[in-house]
Amino acid sequence: MLNWSSLNKAEQTKALSRPAISDNKGLRKTVANIIDKIDKQGDNALFELTSLFDKVKLSSLQLTDNAVVKATQRLSDKRKLAIQTAYGQIERFHIAQKTTDIVVETMPGVKCTLKTEAIDSVGLYIPAGSAPLPSTVLMLGVPAKLAGCNRVVLVCPPNKQGEIADEIIYAAKLCQISEIYTIGGAQAIAALALGTETIKPVNKVFGPGNRFVTEAKKQLSQLVPGFAIDMPAGPSELLVIADDSATPAFVAADLLSQAEHGPDSQVILVTNSADVAINVQTELDLQVELLSRKDIAKQALNESRLIVCDDIKEAVKVSNLYGPEHLSIQTEQPQQLMTKIRSAGSIFVGDYSPESAGDYASGTNHVLPTYGYSKVISSLSLADFSRRYTVQELTKQGLQSLAETIIELTDAEGLDAHQRAVTIRLEK
Ligand code: NAD
Repeated sequence: MLNWSSLNKAEQTKALSRPAISDNKGLRKTVANIIDKIDKQGDNALFELTSLFDKVKLSSLQLTDNAVVKATQRLSDKRKLAIQTAYGQIERFHIAQKTTDIVVETMPGVKCTLKTEAIDSVGLYIPAGSAPLPSTVLMLGVPAKLAGCNRVVLVCPPNKQGEIADEIIYAAKLCQISEIYTIGGAQAIAALALGTETIKPVNKVFGPGNRFVTEAKKQLSQLVPGFAIDMPAGPSELLVIADDSATPAFVAADLLSQAEHGPDSQVILVTNSADVAINVQTELDLQVELLSRKDIAKQALNESRLIVCDDIKEAVKVSNLYGPEHLSIQTEQPQQLMTKIRSAGSIFVGDYSPESAGDYASGTNHVLPTYGYSKVISSLSLADFSRRYTVQELTKQGLQSLAETIIELTDAEGLDAHQRAVTIRLEK
């Protein structure tokens, strides 16, 4: 528990530092070696690294149609219905994000168009190291399908039996994804970027993952020309702003819901009340013991903070400084605070908007920027699966109208050839 105003600048910076990026150099080297291995040895390296990191010997990399049928049969109707309901919710919110072409005649005879077209091939990374995440399949697969991407490839690390969870396979089927590979970690991202004997490369890769996955996305987007990534979506983060009106049991439950993701998740409470901080701590101690993943949650809590501020204005300042992936506002007038928030991937407003709702089924996307990138990077949306490009078409009259402007500016820049491309037409 920290008292914000009693900390000096360095202590404040340390209080808001992310745990996952403390060993950057070692991580960079490990991931660079994995990428190099995939580049040189392709499929063989995928088999070897899966055996090393996932402790399983795969007989093939690609999931068979038969496995999809079996997974669908094994799942209960209740579970399938839940996946279908979440699918519908996410589809409703993302279908509304569709845009139409923008056509503007900027002057008579000069027509400019902004067009949107689906990215041809995309790779979806579904994390499964510590927990399989079918919800992530929907968060990536639904917009990929709505955007109309030609080829959608899914990769997911295998469990100890060398399999992918039935729920992940079923969610992929709903999204009409048929190319699925049982690989994970940095090696899966490298395969999608570089290609191997079995896996053709994709244009852009999406999805959250642990630090190896996130680092691989970062390195490969710089290494492979034309290969893009969605965003640095690393270990989960939640910051809760709470005042006296908050229910400490709710706040603690929310903090634990993110702490259980992984040991490198980070959860932070910022409050204007020492009592709230103490009561939340008591609730955390009680509730963590009830969790099946309590060991993981406890490790994450070690890197977490309860920060007491002088007032709620300062609490908002701390939140904006941190730029959380998820921000929950549990105060008397949450709407009022909303207008002061400058950086957060997704905001959960009021006592009855638990972060779990956005993780699964409210309809918003749960793939969100971490590491403070919420200050500049947006949460995932339909637009990320498309590329925008512009078109211009000028008539002779349109070019005549613009000629003087272009000629003057080419003079200013000393670019004769640019100028000639205009005058040669007007002289004809
Ligand atoms: P994961 O699928 O991201 O990673 C598992 C893979 O990591 C394994 O297959 C293995 O190949 C690789 N790996 C493990 N140990 C390694 C090592 N020592 N060296 C090299 N590679 C190694 O699954 P995960 O570990 O459960 O992580 C999922 C992460 O995704 C969590 O941190 C969670 O918080 C985060 N997440 C983020 C968002 C978001 O939107 N930001 C959403 C959901 C989940």
